[in-house]
Order: sequence, then C-alpha cells, then structure tokens
Amino acid sequence: MKAFVICAAHDAAVNDIPTPEPGPGEALIRVRICGVCGSDLHAYEGSQPFFQYPEVPGHEVVGDIVRVVPRPGGPLRLPNRPIEDDLAPGERVVLDPGMPCGACHPCLHGRYNCCENMRVIGVHAPGALAEYFVAPLECLHRVPGALCDELAAVVEPLSIGVEANTRGCVSESDTVLIIGAGTIGLCVMLVAKSRGARVAMTDLSAARRAKAIQMGADVALDPRQDDFQEALRQFGAGSAPSVVVEAVGTPGTVAQALDLVVAGGRMVLLGLISDPITMPGNVMVKKELDFLGSRLHGGTIPQAVDLIADGVVDVSGLVTHRVGLGGVEQALTLMAQQPDEVLKTLVSVAQ
Ligand SMILES: [Zn+2]
Ligand SMILES: [Zn+2]
Repeated sequence: MKAFVICAAHDAAVNDIPTPEPGPGEALIRVRICGVCGSDLHAYEGSQPFFQYPEVPGHEVVGDIVRVVPRPGGPLRLPNRPIEDDLAPGERVVLDPGMPCGACHPCLHGRYNCCENMRVIGVHAPGALAEYFVAPLECLHRVPGALCDELAAVVEPLSIGVEANTRGCVSESDTVLIIGAGTIGLCVMLVAKSRGARVAMTDLSAARRAKAIQMGADVALDPRQDDFQEALRQFGAGSAPSVVVEAVGTPGTVAQALDLVVAGGRMVLLGLISDPITMPGNVMVKKELDFLGSRLHGGTIPQAVDLIADGVVDVSGLVTHRVGLGGVEQALTLMAQQPDEVLKTLVSVAQ
C-alpha cells in the first residue's frame, strides 16, 4: 500500500509498504480522508519526542472497516470509555487515536485519556496517512451517513474542544476567554458557543482574529492593544472571564491566563509546555482557582460526532487546504511557514 512515511526529521516520502495485518481485537481500515495535525508537523520537524522514525503519522481520520478480528472475551471495557459494539466490515468510522493500557489508576477510574502508559496511533504506532491502517476496535466510532467525509475528518480535533469544555465545566452562564485562535482554540470556541457561553478569543495574528469572528467568537482581541484589559471587562459586563483556556503553549500565556481569570474561576491548560511555569503561588489561593489540564479526549469522540452531524457546530471553516498523499510534505512545510493561513489540511486518500 502507499503510505506517507516520515523517515527522519525533514525527510519524508510516499512509500510502498506492506498493508498492515489486524491482530485479535483490531480492525483494518481503508482511509478516506486524514487531516494533518500540529503533532504531525512536530514529528516531521523532529520536535515530537515520542515519534519513532521511520513511521507513518496521522490520526484525524475517517475510513471504512475492511476486516475485523474479534478479541476473545469481547472488547476491552474501561469506565467512561464509549465502545461501539459489533463493528463490521463496510462501516464508516472515525478514530480515537489513544490506546490506553487498561491497567493503571486513571484507566481504572474513568480517566483513561490520561493513561500513564498511553500509546497514540500515528505517534507510537503506525498512523493513518496511508491507504490502510490498523486500530483496536475500542478506538473506532461509527459516523452517521449524513455526515460527509470532510467534516467527519474534523471530529478528532473537535473532540479535543469537547474535552476542554468538559474539564472547564463550561455552561451558558460562563464568559470564556480562549488564548490562541489556532485550530484547537477555534474548536474550543465552537463547543463553548454550542453550550451557550459567550466567548472572547485572543491572538497576535489579525488573520486568525478575523477567522475567530467569522466562525462565531463574540469578540477577538489583540492582547497587545492598549485598551485590551478594558475591552475584556466590557465583554464580561464588568467582570473578568469565568473560564480561561490556554491554547498556545507558552509559559507567558499561562501567566496571562492566571492573571485574567476571575476569582473563583477555572483555568484550562491545553498547550504542551516543557518549560517550567512560574507564577505567584498566592494567586491560586487568593482566587481559589481550579487549574485544570486537558488531555486528548476522555470519551468525547461520540459527542463531537453528534455536534457536527446534528449541525450544532459548523467546523467547515477550519478546512483551509486539501491535498493528496503526494502533497503531504508540501502541506507540512506550508503549515510551518504560514501558520496564520493554514488551519486544517485534509488529505484525500480514497473516497
Ligand atoms: Zn490531532
Ligand atoms: Zn492506563
């Protein structure tokens, strides 16, 4: 089969490699469309520490089940993990790329998305930027016939937005500030709006701020503008935001989030930061903050499917580029060079 293989940092090619064989409890899936994620770019650039070269990246996928090998004893069930029973060849599915161990404390207590031994398809195992890939049956979710392939390919990033809103307990009584209007920030915004919250976004890029407004944010602000604090207060009718979501991933924006969130509020951290975060410790106490990490998707894929399929959330604005397998390397380069313009690139493999 043809597959986009990252051989080493900045070295990738479409290669002919053996079609994978599903083992017990797995399915072979023929890929229709796979989206390109920021984490795929990190693998290409050599800044994804868990990526083992050579490997096929890709996890934002919709495809058709070709073959199923049942697991003796049935599916691996974990608390809070939605399972689709009786998946069969011919069914169209999307992927939850996380493969939790099923044995650690978070796995056994309804928090399998932060499994201590998490393996992710497209990072620790062959991904879906290929004609076929293999996945555990527990990772696959049916999509309704009315949901087109392109929008189904955006389910996985939207489910990250569902997880962040779930962590932040976002409801219609909230004013939410999202720092960073990239793909993930926009997904958080779409879900927060669907819950009835009012949403402000900040981004340094004017193009991204325009996109945020176009896709439904109530306000999009430049954090460098002189009247930034005043504009934010106006947005909150005199109050600071009740939830602040950090979707950039720098220590500076975390400090900004802690500063901007209202006392008694919630801060959700999505950005992956390896540097230490420094902050005055008394802020946590004085504001009695809930400081919440948000990782992958804890059972939120079916909710994301429903939000898109029911027309509650319109993700079509996220899709900015379309290529074939042969265009992936160029798409990754463009993504790195023009981050303001490239949101989601969809790779058509077969339709
Ligand atoms: Zn992704
Ligand atoms: Zn685990």
